[in-house]
Amino acid sequence: MCSFSKFPQKYVILGQFFIKHTIYCTVYLERKQCEWYNDIHEVIILKEQIYTIPVNEAYDTDCECPLCFLEKKLERETLDYTLGAAMMEPDFRENSNKEGFCNKHFSMLFDMQSKLALSLVLDTHLEEIRKKLDALSKSSKALKSAKGGLFKKTGAAEFTASLSSQLDNISDGCVVCSKINHTMERYADVLLYMWANDEKFKEKFDKSKGLCLKHMKLLTDTAPKSLKDAQAAQFLSSMFDKQKAELTRIQEDIHKFTLKFDYRNKDMEWGTAQDAPIRTLEKISGFIKNDFDQK
Ligand SMILES: [Zn+2]
Ligand SMILES: [Zn+2]
Repeated sequence: MCSFSKFPQKYVILGQFFIKHTIYCTVYLERKQCEWYNDIHEVIILKEQIYTIPVNEAYDTDCECPLCFLEKKLERETLDYTLGAAMMEPDFRENSNKEGFCNKHFSMLFDMQSKLALSLVLDTHLEEIRKKLDALSKSSKALKSAKGGLFKKTGAAEFTASLSSQLDNISDGCVVCSKINHTMERYADVLLYMWANDEKFKEKFDKSKGLCLKHMKLLTDTAPKSLKDAQAAQFLSSMFDKQKAELTRIQEDIHKFTLKFDYRNKDMEWGTAQDAPIRTLEKISGFIKNDFDQK
């Protein structure tokens, strides 16, 4: 996708690597530093090469939303990382202690094998939560000792609203969701880049079964940031046409599914309608079960 000839002359190729077996990337090094590898301070990994391969792979699978396919894979890898290699990564541990996890990802972590790794994560995260609660507890005591006490109405509602919102801050974050959202934004950016610059990919996009509504919105939000105005307009118009046709197809399937329950239609062929409920649901709402490791 990106050849070295297009890259600024001050860089040379340091090496080409596979990251996590599937992501192939080229690492470039500033030319003048070649002889002093220990002094490397400017290494560039081309984002196009890190992200184009997974995006292409997702569009080679037959699914209702290739971005859901990517997100499932990413979610599974991030959860494995959280209870695996990340245990030795102070930066990630610091973030997970501060941000914590959402209910869905706590539940997925709990279903994984390593209860020791999970307990170590929980132990240090709970320490962080208790520190934050201690600070809040001091604030609430300050209100109690204020003139009139907590039950004096003036100011209490406002104060508790602030306490409540700070409690939200303690439990709202999720280090897994943050990582997924950040990477999905990069995937969306690269998908649009490929759509605008790679005819073969554009063909794949046109032949695909469209996207779920959540990822349709992600591409809608990303288009004006990643493409020039005219290209963004062209992309959005083509994506909306595609989605219209794909949702019509899905509607036909789900409607046919309901008709099959009428005894008069018992001999009607299922066609593509047999798994219509899950496909319709996931088209509207994005994937609900991560079956990536079962593929
Ligand atoms: Zn999706
Ligand atoms: Zn989460």
